[in-house]
Amino acid sequence: MKSILSESVWWLTGCPIIKMRIDVITLFPQFVQQVISCGVVGRAAEQGLLELHCWNPREYTADRHRTVDDRPYGGGPGMLMKVEPLQDAIGAVRAKNPNARLVYLSPQGRLLKQRMLADQAALGTVIFLCGRYEGIDERLIEQEVDEEWSLGDYVISGGELAAMVCIDAMTRLLPGALGDDESAQQDSFSEGLLDCPHYTRPEDYRGDCVPAVLMNGNHRDINAWREKQALGRTWQRRPDLLEATRLDDRQQELLDEYIAEFERTRKR
Ligand code: SAM
Repeated sequence: MKSILSESVWWLTGCPIIKMRIDVITLFPQFVQQVISCGVVGRAAEQGLLELHCWNPREYTADRHRTVDDRPYGGGPGMLMKVEPLQDAIGAVRAKNPNARLVYLSPQGRLLKQRMLADQAALGTVIFLCGRYEGIDERLIEQEVDEEWSLGDYVISGGELAAMVCIDAMTRLLPGALGDDESAQQDSFSEGLLDCPHYTRPEDYRGDCVPAVLMNGNHRDINAWREKQALGRTWQRRPDLLEATRLDDRQQELLDEYIAEFERTRKR
């Protein structure tokens, strides 16, 4: 069964040339730029698959001290990001990238899922807004922000790390970004399941040997084994994912086999 997610990944990988433009509004552009300094994302930027632009609200201040924070109405601890520099930075980005959705990274947003990232990557562009201090004025969120995304149920000091996570996860879905485009399709979550276990040399690691099926060169057997392991792993570790996935008869059979083998070894 192909999930909607895998269709959007397919859409991406089936598209011969795709280039993604990402704009990030941040008080720490030098920090965010590091995401393109190495690895998969760095290579994608070098190859021109990814264009990353950072916009610093500090550049849109008018006062001598280039102030980017302001006190909250009603008092209380902490500061908020000052509205005018942020609004002008948003205006400047929108002038260059008018059709992109503006996503505010926020602990109060929708919990990030691979599917959201794949769907966004398929659109080819996005603007990320990184908060700092206690966050940003609620009216600015209501009027300017299209979506709010959260990394998880915890609070970090700024949206930059969240934006970098999104940039990395979206970039690896671009055709040509990974050495082998299929590897993104085999990753956890892309088909609604966790990935299967992987092995490399040595064949015998402290008495624990690589499963024999992986050594026999029969790719049909290997693929079936991998699929069974992915199903079994998901059953053991993330049953919630399995509940959301419709298995075909063959997959159900593989999962039943896995469960039976698991129960047998547990009883021993
Ligand atoms: N007072 C805010 C609250 O409790 O909802 C938290 C502000 S936090 C210290 C500063 C900024 O970090 C936020 O505006 C947001 O951009 C970012 N941030 C913090 N936690 C995040 C999370 N879990 N996911 C995405 N962004 C987060």
